[in-house]
Amino acid sequence: MQTEIVIGLEIHVQLATRTKLFCGCSTDYFGAPPNRHCCPVCLGMPGALPVLNERAVELALVAALALGCEIPSYSRFDRKQYFYPDLPKGYQISQYKAPIALGGHLDLEGDGGGKRVRLRRLHLEEDAGKLVHDPAAGRTLVDLNRCGVPLIEIVTEPDLRSPEEAARFLKQLRQILRYLEVSNCDMEKGELRCDANLSLSVDGQLGTKTEIKNLNSFKAVEEALRAEAQRQRSLLERGQRVMQQTFGWDPERGRLEPQRTKEEAEDYRYFPDPDLVPLTIDEAWKRRLREQLPELPHEKRRRWKREFELPDYDIRVLTEERGIAEYFERVVELHPKPKDVSNWMMTELLRLLAEEEHPVPKLPPERFAELLKMVEAGTIHRNTGKDVLEEAYRTGRPPKEIVEERGLARIADEAELARLADEVIAEQPEAVANFRAGNEKALGFLVGQLRAKTRGRADPKLAARLLRERLSR
Ligand SMILES: [Zn+2]
Repeated sequence: MQTEIVIGLEIHVQLATRTKLFCGCSTDYFGAPPNRHCCPVCLGMPGALPVLNERAVELALVAALALGCEIPSYSRFDRKQYFYPDLPKGYQISQYKAPIALGGHLDLEGDGGGKRVRLRRLHLEEDAGKLVHDPAAGRTLVDLNRCGVPLIEIVTEPDLRSPEEAARFLKQLRQILRYLEVSNCDMEKGELRCDANLSLSVDGQLGTKTEIKNLNSFKAVEEALRAEAQRQRSLLERGQRVMQQTFGWDPERGRLEPQRTKEEAEDYRYFPDPDLVPLTIDEAWKRRLREQLPELPHEKRRRWKREFELPDYDIRVLTEERGIAEYFERVVELHPKPKDVSNWMMTELLRLLAEEEHPVPKLPPERFAELLKMVEAGTIHRNTGKDVLEEAYRTGRPPKEIVEERGLARIADEAELARLADEVIAEQPEAVANFRAGNEKALGFLVGQLRAKTRGRADPKLAARLLRERLSR
């Protein structure tokens, strides 16, 4: 039996708008007391009318343009009817027949070159509220803060062929959406979550599809799909049938939880929302948004490889976040030694950054470049540079000022070092005798003494030469 895994994803992404999709309520509900960010519109009170948030439409268009989707001039909102305690309207406003964007693709990067994953559609919809289960008290509470928060749903074609590939796709999609500032995609806050469907094709014959709902981490996507592929495979091996079914995923137990057999799409009785006019998107709007698209992560990586000749690893690390990547580019403009900048950023700066919640280094790129130039010119030692960087980072003071104030500049003044060499020789008769008796190691000790006198600022090569000259006389 020759089996192949076939996976498609439906990804829900919370758009980075300040207000909800159809009302002025704040979307900043995370951690807020329950049921505070609500109004008659998002609560679905009779007679309350939705007003479309233009920014949400714009962000959906930006995502669609960056993913190469086709944007029809006409799209509209439909009502998806179903009953659920966290959906007080009794329907969700979504897009069904005429979504805002169709088609598109994402090229997977990685070993073996790009594989194209086709997208089927991208549409706008509102989120529902949240049920908060309280098993100890034997009750479930409803929090409607999330009702009406704008989402885009991105649906892929079943082009993914392994759980690992599905997770990789999701990571890349997340990175693009973050570059575009369409969404923060904070998965812990549920700003990016995904439903995955999987079937096994046996000897080229596509099998029954099952769905896993609400996966909210890359690890969950990979593990849940692996478990489902295994479950289907063992059913087929025992000669049993795979039933059309929906599962949840329990990440703690690492277990699929059967939820329900899937309803047909007809059950939702979609129809055009009579409260909202159809959307008309003209060419000028699309053109304006297309011109404003930032360089996307894969484009950046390709350009950096060409322009900066950096190792792939460096490029991957430094393009992970757009803020970091742009910081790097700015520093390289001022100090055109890409590999040097990369080394310093990856070891020192990202370490300092990791200690904070800041998305970009708070040390201005100009200051960072100033420090690298001082190291490059030999004004300070590399190790001194690390200390200065740390201080500049924490205090926000210019590195030059720190170096001057703390007297950290390297002493390469020969007369000054010669005087100190004489002092060391006078103070260390034992080591001097050892050296003269042929013990080379004693010289190292004397150099150390001299450097100690300068608090490490003496040029070690120069110090060794001056000492040797004196001792050989
Ligand atoms: Zn509201």
